[in-house]
Amino acid sequence: MGRKYFAWSFDDGLEQDKKIIEILRQYGLGATFHLNSGLFGDRTYEGRIGNLGMTETPASSFDPHARHLLPYVPHFRIPEDEIVQVYRGFEIASHTSHHVNLSRCTEETRRAEIRDDVEALSALTGQTVTGFAYPYGAGAKKSRDALKEAGVQYARLAVTKPGFRFPEDPLAMPLSCWHISAKTFERLDAFFQAEAEEDLFFLMFAHGYEFDFGTKESNWDKFRRICEAVASHDDIIACSIGEALRMHREAEND
Ligand SMILES: [Zn+2]
Repeated sequence: MGRKYFAWSFDDGLEQDKKIIEILRQYGLGATFHLNSGLFGDRTYEGRIGNLGMTETPASSFDPHARHLLPYVPHFRIPEDEIVQVYRGFEIASHTSHHVNLSRCTEETRRAEIRDDVEALSALTGQTVTGFAYPYGAGAKKSRDALKEAGVQYARLAVTKPGFRFPEDPLAMPLSCWHISAKTFERLDAFFQAEAEEDLFFLMFAHGYEFDFGTKESNWDKFRRICEAVASHDDIIACSIGEALRMHREAEND
């Protein structure tokens, strides 16, 4: 008989993470936060189309009170001096130093962006950073060596894959669901009802700013309802990605 693991994965290290963490603590859930150490404190606004953030504008050249073609929400990154305190008790993972597209940069940049971010985050938090998420979900094939050299043990993509098996290739880890999906609760119910003949894993992905969209599929109430649904199932271990992988590995080696 296997066990069921659920992990939230949040990108970019945003001010909204503070509210997220408050809610996660209420429900006793773990999570992984993927941060860009070269962009701490950076402030932009994110323009939305449907349920997707589409375009970023620097806060310095944006008037939130003016009329805009798209609805915008803040994409403000938490300053460096708050990181340790805000994320205490949660897993910190890498997302490159400057949120670069790893499929489009040089090999030198790719190595530096991964290595420098892992080192900076490890030094800042005192955690050994072993997790990663590809910015824009891109560059998995080209980044394998650089990730391994930096000590990264798992790397998250942005594509959704059906089924709840642990990923065969931890450096190309798909999502179980992006919370903005209209099928979020359908997917969750399938997981809740699944027979754990082997260990199962549900990886839920979000950017904190998406909850500010306030759309039907992307809002704070839905976030709370997801957390409540997961927390109401005693047989689910709700932890960080790193913890889920570690416990799964240990169980396999027993
Ligand atoms: Zn990102």
